[in-house]
Amino acid sequence: MGRYYKEYADFLAEHFPGRKMQKLTVDAGFSCPNRDGTLSTGGCAYCNNNSFSPGSHEGRHLSPVADQLEESKIFFRRKYPSMRYLAYFQSYTNTHGETSRLLDLYDEAFGCEGVDGVIIGTRPDCLPAGLVEALACRHKAGQWIMVELGAESSHDDTLRRVNRCHSWQATVDAVSRLRDAQLPVGLHLIMGLPGENREMMMETVERAALLHPDTVKFHQLQIVAGSTLAHQWQAGQQFELFTPESYLPLCLDIISTMNRLSPSTAIERFTSQAPSDLLIAPRWGLKNYQFVNLLHNLLSRC
Ligand code: SF4
Repeated sequence: MGRYYKEYADFLAEHFPGRKMQKLTVDAGFSCPNRDGTLSTGGCAYCNNNSFSPGSHEGRHLSPVADQLEESKIFFRRKYPSMRYLAYFQSYTNTHGETSRLLDLYDEAFGCEGVDGVIIGTRPDCLPAGLVEALACRHKAGQWIMVELGAESSHDDTLRRVNRCHSWQATVDAVSRLRDAQLPVGLHLIMGLPGENREMMMETVERAALLHPDTVKFHQLQIVAGSTLAHQWQAGQQFELFTPESYLPLCLDIISTMNRLSPSTAIERFTSQAPSDLLIAPRWGLKNYQFVNLLHNLLSRC
């Protein structure tokens, strides 16, 4: 257990005892129902998918999943020969497609030497029953599978404002179904979405904690080029964006709330850093680990 809260390393140690694990990002060429017209064509207001999946597939040829993993492994294998891996299907909505094709892609990852698990990033409203059942069967049979849900906020007004095209209830239902299927589940939340004050953000943290996810990731809102928010920003709209100084106290509250309501949930991260060529604001120049060091320094003085 981390000194101040359950850390992601603790979660990995529980699931993969004695093994050194590394996540490797995979772009399997999916789209997203919020961009391809299934739900909307505009996408979420803050999203330029290239910002969270550098080298994203829009407009370029994708290598097969296995090749992507092999390529990523080269660096780690040289440094840590005994490293094991989790294939992280991160880009877009990784459950948006025909079930048989999805399962083939996950299997391709499992077929790679050293891959001990698959993490599937998706939306809470994109989990067909047949797919959840198939994932549960595989997980029970020994293929370690986790689903990571983009929940972002517990406030439906906010979700509407940023064109998420799903409700908080969709997240509640998805977590419950994944729990029933005994699949580990992670949540992703954005702090500072337009129209939200600190109280609303903390309400989201509390509601998320009460779902007792296995992991949670927090990100500060970023304005990235190509997103709807970027166009609004360039048109002169003001956004209240966090600075490290204003975000650190919020993170202290987040930790205290998570420890109080769901100490078994591992906090995987607090910040995100979009690639420099895409990030418009805020430009902190801090990597996640540097922010975490600042946070831990503060915690050590509490
Ligand atoms: S954040 Fe996810 S769901 Fe929203 S537009 Fe981007 S890829 Fe689609």
